[in-house]
Amino acid sequence: MPANSYDAIVIGGGHNGLVAAAYLAKYGARTVVLEARHKTGGAADTMAPWPEAPDIKVTTLSYVMSLMPPSIQRDLNLERFGYKVHPQGMGYLPLPDGSILQSGDARKDHESIARFSKHDADQWPAFEAWIGRIANIMGPLLMETPPHLGSKKASDIKDIAQLGWQLRKEVDQQTVADITRLFTMSATDLLRRWFENDVFIGLQSVNGIIGTWSGPDAPGTAYVMMHHSVGDIGDGEIASWGYPEGGMGAVGDACASAARSFGAEIRTNARVERVLVRDGRTVGVALEGGEELSAPLVVTAIHPKITFLEQIERSQLPTTFVEDIEHWRTRSGTVKINLALAELPEFTADPGFDPDISRRVAIHTARQRGNEACRKGGRIAMPVQVVERAQ
Ligand SMILES: Cc1cc2nc3c(=O)[nH]c(=O)nc-3n(C[C@H](O)[C@H](O)[C@H](O)COP(=O)(O)OP(=O)(O)OC[C@H]3O[C@@H](n4cnc5c(N)ncnc54)[C@H](O)[C@@H]3O)c2cc1C
Repeated sequence: MPANSYDAIVIGGGHNGLVAAAYLAKYGARTVVLEARHKTGGAADTMAPWPEAPDIKVTTLSYVMSLMPPSIQRDLNLERFGYKVHPQGMGYLPLPDGSILQSGDARKDHESIARFSKHDADQWPAFEAWIGRIANIMGPLLMETPPHLGSKKASDIKDIAQLGWQLRKEVDQQTVADITRLFTMSATDLLRRWFENDVFIGLQSVNGIIGTWSGPDAPGTAYVMMHHSVGDIGDGEIASWGYPEGGMGAVGDACASAARSFGAEIRTNARVERVLVRDGRTVGVALEGGEELSAPLVVTAIHPKITFLEQIERSQLPTTFVEDIEHWRTRSGTVKINLALAELPEFTADPGFDPDISRRVAIHTARQRGNEACRKGGRIAMPVQVVERAQ
């Protein structure tokens, strides 16, 4: 095979591109990853931003692990390459006149929530069980190629029927109704069916607005809440998130090492400018600077708007598809600020250092009005705040 010819080219060396490349290489494809930056990992990145304190490292962008399927960890031997995640506690909400700490200990959690509402404290275990059941149904679906709903092709109809058969044991009519509602409801509407206390509802709704350009009253945020409840860092516990040892950069590095171990080539400072298409099929890519690489399979692991609107000639794609991508609104309201603290913070609500709090500082506040103001172009001080402890 000529040097610039591969079985598969992966555009983008973020963790998704690296995982795709690792699988392709593992199953025998001569694979190259092309990464625009000087290093791989994408938003799974750790850096030491303060030259005067080189030992203080922070995760540059993403900071907690969830939704990394255990099967990927096993298939790619990620632990061998340094992947290790410490489970994160569920959350802490300090207020001037009290706090809620969700530690995962049923008795402590009940006591903590009951300070705000006995009703909500009593409801919490049933809600956890309900959300866990739906997450258990939806979690495995994330690993499936979705069937082509609406297609009349026999093979697609067979796929739809197979999925229905697969789900028949767990999904009754009530569950179908619950899942359907999730896609259209707001996080607060869903939570108000279970709980009464605004503070507690506010704390729970944080999972509904992660990465969204919405507040917890916006339709659809109930699904976002559920999506984040599917999190499984590999210990089999639904809704568990965790901090990776070495920060998120270590996750990116583990994925890169795994890809290399299976024989994938990784090129940095290799920005893809165009995807080459001939007779309606991808045949390779052209890098900035003109170099061309060929492969019958090109996997894009960068923003779809870049690939489908900038890297491929529009005339090569169905018009309706291009229009869909053009009108896809993907803006997120996330801002991240890293601070190095001389010592752990002490909270007015809980004077003295409670080991449960100092082990997992995750402060949440969510304000619907703040998010609405942002969407209309206004400014507001920290509509949502999540403070996580650095490793
Ligand atoms: C501030 C912030 C906080 C977040 N926090 C979390 C979190 O805590 N937990 C979590 O699970 N998720 C979090 N996310 C989301 C998470 O970071 C993304 O879902 C994840 O990074 C997507 O990975 P990826 O590999 O698909 O893409 P990316 O990480 O975006 O990687 C894409 C790569 O492609 C490269 N690239 C771009 N254009 C080209 C080109 N033309 N040619 C070649 N290479 C190119 C980029 O340089 C980059 O390395 C956060 C995101 C942000 C922005």
